[in-house]
Amino acid sequence: MTPLQSEIEQRGKRIFELVDKYPESLFSKAGFYQRLMTLSMRDEQLKLQLFRFVAVLPSLHTSDEIIEHLQEYFADGHESGKVAEFLGAGIRLAGIVPWISGPILRWNVSEMARQFIAGRNPNDVMRTLRKRRTQNIGFTVDLLGEAVVSETEADEYAARYLHLLEGLAHETKNWTDALEKNSELFPVVNLSVKISALYSQISPDDPAETIAHLAPKLRPLLRRARELGAFINFDMESYAHKNGTLELFKTVFMEEEFRDWPHAGIVIQAYLRDSDADLRHLIEWGRARGTRFAVRLVKGAYWDYETTKSRQNGWDCPVYLQKPESDANFEMLTRLLLENESIVTSAFGSHNVRSIAHAQALAEQLGIDRSRFEFQLLYGMAGPIKRALVEMGYRVREYCPVGELLPGMSYLVRRLLENTSNEGFLRAKFSENVPAEELLRDPREILRGSRNGVLPPSNATINMTTTTPKTQPGAHYENAPLTNFALPENQEKMRAALREQRKQFARKVPLTINGEKIWTDNMFSSVNPSQPDQIVGYAAEAGVPEAERAVAAARMAFEKWRRTSFEERCQLLERAAEILERRRFELSALEVFEVGKPWAQADGDIAEAIDFCTFYARQMRLMGQPRLTQNVPGEESYQHYWPRGVALVIAPWNFPMAILCGMVSAALVTGNTVIMKPSEQSVIIGAMLMEIYEEAGVPPGVLNFLNGKGSVIGAHMVDHKDVDLIAFTGSREVGLRIWESAGKTREGQRELKRVICEMGGKNAMIVDSDADLDEAIVDSIYSAFGFQGQKCSALSRLIVLEENHDRVVERLLGAAASVRVGNPEEPGIVVGPVIDEAAYRRILDYIEVGKGEATLAYQAKELPPHGYFIPPTIFTGVKPNMRIAREEIFGPVLSVLKVRDLDEAIKVANGTDYALTGGFFSRSPDNIERVKAQLEAGNVYINRPCTGAIVGRHPFGGFKMSGSGTKAGGKDYLLNFLIPRVVTENVARHGLAPEKTPEYRDEFL
Ligand SMILES: Cc1cc2nc3c(=O)[nH]c(=O)nc-3n(C[C@H](O)[C@H](O)[C@H](O)COP(=O)(O)OP(=O)(O)OC[C@H]3O[C@@H](n4cnc5c(N)ncnc54)[C@H](O)[C@@H]3O)c2cc1C
Repeated sequence: MTPLQSEIEQRGKRIFELVDKYPESLFSKAGFYQRLMTLSMRDEQLKLQLFRFVAVLPSLHTSDEIIEHLQEYFADGHESGKVAEFLGAGIRLAGIVPWISGPILRWNVSEMARQFIAGRNPNDVMRTLRKRRTQNIGFTVDLLGEAVVSETEADEYAARYLHLLEGLAHETKNWTDALEKNSELFPVVNLSVKISALYSQISPDDPAETIAHLAPKLRPLLRRARELGAFINFDMESYAHKNGTLELFKTVFMEEEFRDWPHAGIVIQAYLRDSDADLRHLIEWGRARGTRFAVRLVKGAYWDYETTKSRQNGWDCPVYLQKPESDANFEMLTRLLLENESIVTSAFGSHNVRSIAHAQALAEQLGIDRSRFEFQLLYGMAGPIKRALVEMGYRVREYCPVGELLPGMSYLVRRLLENTSNEGFLRAKFSENVPAEELLRDPREILRGSRNGVLPPSNATINMTTTTPKTQPGAHYENAPLTNFALPENQEKMRAALREQRKQFARKVPLTINGEKIWTDNMFSSVNPSQPDQIVGYAAEAGVPEAERAVAAARMAFEKWRRTSFEERCQLLERAAEILERRRFELSALEVFEVGKPWAQADGDIAEAIDFCTFYARQMRLMGQPRLTQNVPGEESYQHYWPRGVALVIAPWNFPMAILCGMVSAALVTGNTVIMKPSEQSVIIGAMLMEIYEEAGVPPGVLNFLNGKGSVIGAHMVDHKDVDLIAFTGSREVGLRIWESAGKTREGQRELKRVICEMGGKNAMIVDSDADLDEAIVDSIYSAFGFQGQKCSALSRLIVLEENHDRVVERLLGAAASVRVGNPEEPGIVVGPVIDEAAYRRILDYIEVGKGEATLAYQAKELPPHGYFIPPTIFTGVKPNMRIAREEIFGPVLSVLKVRDLDEAIKVANGTDYALTGGFFSRSPDNIERVKAQLEAGNVYINRPCTGAIVGRHPFGGFKMSGSGTKAGGKDYLLNFLIPRVVTENVARHGLAPEKTPEYRDEFL
């Protein structure tokens, strides 16, 4: 055993002795909380329900609502017994006297929250702080309320901080340092600040903007803190905010005014793989700055969130997946901090006796006096450890959250999760009584053991088991990950691509027919909607003669293409996907200029195009081989598919690559030949797809690129006798015309035309009376105004139950006013320009209609001077029969409708011609089930935005006047491009039949 390990064990055992001297359960509050903890640790599923119930409770208004939720959350027979045990009198009384049991429950939860929340307001918290002072425990105070949705809320929060600072400084004027040694390093007043609470529009892809916005907001607070001799710490939140927070810290504290101020600190999270590099940079920065600063080292509070989020997006997970990795890294960073003690003051934020003992032992070894660093622990947790540390003569500071229960809910749930975590130290020590030797083991030793396969089961492995079972078809499909613009290297790549695209402005693209490049006399210009005087490119315009040539070429190429093996066709799509991936930033940048997409949305469009290629290739492999229909002796019957023929693809500009590529790829992989006609507004992106397929090796004539006016060549080809299939996505008006026209059979026509028709929506989101408004507001704003509301899935009617209406509207308007509108070339822009002048005029006309019909509640005022910018607009008092509530606007205009109850909400939501997307924000399991069953929409989204469908995961498409019921990105989609065929052969001869018929056979080529 190394001397360090032996010292750690000694110290650890000493801490445990002191802890055991004053036995106190971790779950020191008896009653409700203790029962909640015990039950949660017994049953993971129940834990989820219990925590969900606890989270919704503060927002329920009446006792009846509380009892209804209780019954809904725990309706399952096997759970109700346990829950009755937990809630005791609460649930038994529920049926009889709800007006008593509701308040009892609410009181219980408030009491439980009080265990973790040090006070409801600055006055309240002083009581706690005074008490701690007598125990020689210092404080850092945090204001609860991290989810601000608007700048009004963020400003209120900043003002409350200032107020808190003044109050604390005043109340603690005469307090002295507990250790009375090196006290200049540790001011009595210590505030912990969360930057996400100070700015509602932090955009991880734009740290510079975050700094530009937050620095002026922080300076008055910092200035005042300095005057009052207080300390300011920047807390660390989710990974997306990490770089911005670090940069902000470095920028502000390097400013002349604060450069020589030593009382600034920041958090480093040891569970992050980046943390070592971040801490080293921070120390270098500190040395360059020349003034001490502080670091609070923690493991990190968002482990579950980070793992879920990265898995959802297909990103590399930023956190370690094995608990001992975080522990070992914590120790490595402890060493780095202590070895740099000359510039950085350390605070070790941990309840883990091993981590604490390690810091103590190492400090001793390095000769650092125990008064020169501190241990920080959370309010309401690990009381005995705090007491033990004080008794050992260490400096202890408690992290004390202040605020009301509702804004503090996510903090409370994080604490409950921490206390019940399978891998947490607190549970192991205080609930499961794991022996000291085990708890004090060197995490590196545990990791070495893990390499021999004996690591205990971890949250990571538990989480993994919740994924789709591997045997299910489609389980192996993986979407292309979205670009994580929180990473600086991706921001740089995007900037470089934008610069490069600018140089390509005014490029010219030809038609492609039968592999030949064709130039015509007429050239279309495609402009940048943010700056219409900038021409992104020119495209040759086809007329009827070129359309005829394209149809003939496609017809000719069909015979050979249909007899090309499906495997070859799948590989073509996969090569196209690889090229799309290679050119990803370039194409995203082009979308920013050609259609005004914000960065992440442009990237999402390219990712979706890649997904369509890989997903359809996969699906075709699953259905390409002829398959036996039934196993009958003496007869072989195989079903397989033939392509339909010549496909005409007519695509819109709003997902200029994804939708075009999706329809084209589906048609190609199924063996059809294709004429693709992109939208006139996104023709350069369309030409890029042609280039990509050519590079991927599409044979001449199999894919033809035809640019031209829909009313001329589009209409001509729809009616053409040699076109067998039309895949259309676009407006209702054009879609219905195509539907009708394709229904007529023309002279010489071989096939009944198949039309795949995706049209618009008038999508509704219902907000229930118990909805989590922090989420509902942010997601509604994003759904309504993201990409300027120009998605067929965009939210256009927000239907709010009257109980919540005023509160929702107030927060919604504040949030809308905070949204960033501007040229999407800048990162972090949410609302850019609409596509062209015609759209601009049409949307403005609708706004005028709205002004006549309803109340104009909000309209943005500051817009860029040039370009087709429409101010995000919200109407309230909208009635279902008004035009703005019925007609598709396709712009950043949102109507709010007030309804009495959920019945009326569903009726209003369904009372439209369309059925594309729909959403619901609620925390009532019964109401959620009702909406799932009754909302008329092709894609129903619960408690999340109603846009952003992902291929394979959310097959997309609507019905009624939204479309013909097909699902792009779904497993049935390819069937629309195919004709099913069955070949039956009598294989018996004189009664003699083969023993067995194979399930699959070779293609009929
Ligand atoms: C005073 C104080 C302030 C804090 N401030 C912040 C802050 O600003 N930002 C922040 O993010 N956190 C902060 N934390 C940390 C956080 O809230 C948790 O309390 C802390 O991570 C728990 O670690 P521990 O050493 O006490 O317990 P332990 O039980 O030893 O460690 C638990 C931690 O290990 C990590 N972990 C769990 N499972 C795994 C796994 N499978 N693989 C890898 N790692 C895993 C997680 O970080 C988890 O929280 C703070 C903590 C304290 C005490």
